[in-house]
Amino acid sequence: MSHPPASPGPQALRPFDYKPRTRLVFGVGSVDQVGDLARELGAKKVLLVTDPGIVAAGHAEHVRRNLEQAGLQLTLFDQALENPTTKCVDDCLAVAKKAHPDTIIGLGGGSAMDTAKGCNFLLTNGGRMQDYRGVGKASKPMLPLIAIPTTAGTGSECQSAALIVDDKTHQKMACLDPKAAARIAILDPKLTLSQPPRVTACAGMDAIAHALETAVANTRNALSIMYSSEAFKLCVRAFAEVLTHPKDLEARGQMLLGAALAGMAIENSMLGAAHAAANPLTAHFGIVHGQAVGLMLPHVIRFNAHQSQSRKAYSAVAAAAELTSPGHDHAPETLVKRIEMLLDLAGMPRRLACSDAETKMIPLLAEEATRQWTATFNPRPLSKDDFVTLYERAFAGNA
Ligand SMILES: [Zn+2]
Repeated sequence: MSHPPASPGPQALRPFDYKPRTRLVFGVGSVDQVGDLARELGAKKVLLVTDPGIVAAGHAEHVRRNLEQAGLQLTLFDQALENPTTKCVDDCLAVAKKAHPDTIIGLGGGSAMDTAKGCNFLLTNGGRMQDYRGVGKASKPMLPLIAIPTTAGTGSECQSAALIVDDKTHQKMACLDPKAAARIAILDPKLTLSQPPRVTACAGMDAIAHALETAVANTRNALSIMYSSEAFKLCVRAFAEVLTHPKDLEARGQMLLGAALAGMAIENSMLGAAHAAANPLTAHFGIVHGQAVGLMLPHVIRFNAHQSQSRKAYSAVAAAAELTSPGHDHAPETLVKRIEMLLDLAGMPRRLACSDAETKMIPLLAEEATRQWTATFNPRPLSKDDFVTLYERAFAGNA
């Protein structure tokens, strides 16, 4: 992914360089094509990367049977962890090195897909995960990857980034390379029916945050805005549906597609301050990513809304989702109210109940948030004090 220089003016169309890297195969039952699709990529020996929950849900067995029926040899790594660490990637690599795969499949949530990507970096290019932090650090070609999401949230299936936590520093490293992007993403809404309610809630809120942060990021362009708008439109309505009617396959499909399109939006724009503020909450308090992002998002929208360009961008995305009429001046507040309503519906807290000791950590959290890469793409620049204010608003204190 390459990022264009800062816009010469608010009204100018920003330049972009877009090469679709990932073929999207969407539809109920589309996972049954995995064997044929892998063969199309020239696969003979496949490494299937997944996690224990996906094995328990029966999805790994379903994919295994399909691959074997297509005459493919299969090796399974089923120990992908939530917020995968460098150790988790090393464990996967050890299995991969024995199996000599020619194709990798990531089956699961963002964790399984990112573990698969991380393993692909090390298997093909050597070294350690830390070597690939940043953009475009892999010099050799990587193995073809098929991504099969079973959650509607991260959009990892449409991105060239692997997010891996450094075991020693506990910092989340973003390792981006166009070669790491999946060649094919199989989007089968049926696979997302097995998400536990809590995963549906956290992953769904993350997807909504992806759509909104990319829509206003200072790297947004005509193409990314198209993805952000469509992703938000799909997710903001379908999220309430999947929370209240989890078996609604139509709504599950809309969430899955929306989350994938939000992933495309990230690939062509960037995230912002809600993600920058969320990462330290996950690192220090173990708060699930989607919950941390949902907690910070309303405060970030209000913060950004002080800037007229952001107000316009929020207004456009709210109008595209038919939440307001075009040019509506109160669009940011409408968005905040909608996010808060969805947080309530999802049973996710709007304020973080925390002890005095945790409240005292706000300056440290703010310091770390300013160092997050995503903070640099927020449309309104943030100082450490700005992050302190955002955290103070999100912390309920002594509750
Ligand atoms: Zn996210």
